Amino acid sequence: MKPALVDFHCHLDLFPDPVSAVRDAEEAGVYTLTVTTTPKAWPRNHELTHGTRHVRAALGLHPQLVAERSAEIAMWEEYLPQARYVGEVGLDAGPRYFRSLDLQKQIFTRVLQKCAEAGGKILTVHSVRTATMALDLIESQLARKGQVVLHWFTGSKSEARRAVDLGCYFSINCAMLRNDRGRDLVAALPSDRLLTETDAPFTQVGSRPTAPIDVKETVEALATLRNVTLKDLAQNIGSNLRTLLDGAGVSTDP
Ligand code: MN
Repeated sequence: MKPALVDFHCHLDLFPDPVSAVRDAEEAGVYTLTVTTTPKAWPRNHELTHGTRHVRAALGLHPQLVAERSAEIAMWEEYLPQARYVGEVGLDAGPRYFRSLDLQKQIFTRVLQKCAEAGGKILTVHSVRTATMALDLIESQLARKGQVVLHWFTGSKSEARRAVDLGCYFSINCAMLRNDRGRDLVAALPSDRLLTETDAPFTQVGSRPTAPIDVKETVEALATLRNVTLKDLAQNIGSNLRTLLDGAGVSTDP
């Protein structure tokens, strides 16, 4: 049996046709986590992934939207009991967003506190130019009462080591493997913390936006980078997903 593919961070609700995007991922058998950027999108995404075997939705409030949408944290909290998966959440200190960084920290702190209170949540976390700050908050506020996957991580190797010590996983996409710095970082990560993602539709293969099935390109690139067979790498990712879900107490299929 072929090991299943895992796309642990994408945005199917931003596809031109979200319904067929969910159906395509489901039919391809890709274990897919589709994140939301605002809690307003939760009910629809929750409904779209109801009854699917391979596709799950995450409840988010994207750091890049916090400047305009911080008030939506109340709605995020209201929906949290319905959600096992949380994202996209985190921090972004890139040039367009650093002005809202204080507000982002308040919102992310609240998100982590609420997840810690609830327990058993799995978070997909954005940390652009904020790796240390995000890890500080994850350590102090979530305090291991939830599982963290760092999405498209671009911190340093020492920040990555700290994340490993804090129990974090890393979801790797094709764009991360297209530059030396990214490849060097990913090559140094422990194999038991690796997951894969597309961040679709925000990454590309050729000149078209990705879809969850394109995660197979990342699996191939990762296998080459880490000098293991494709099959072993795919099995490794599948077993990491199971360990992650077990750690969060997910007893049924992911
Ligand atoms: Mn994303």
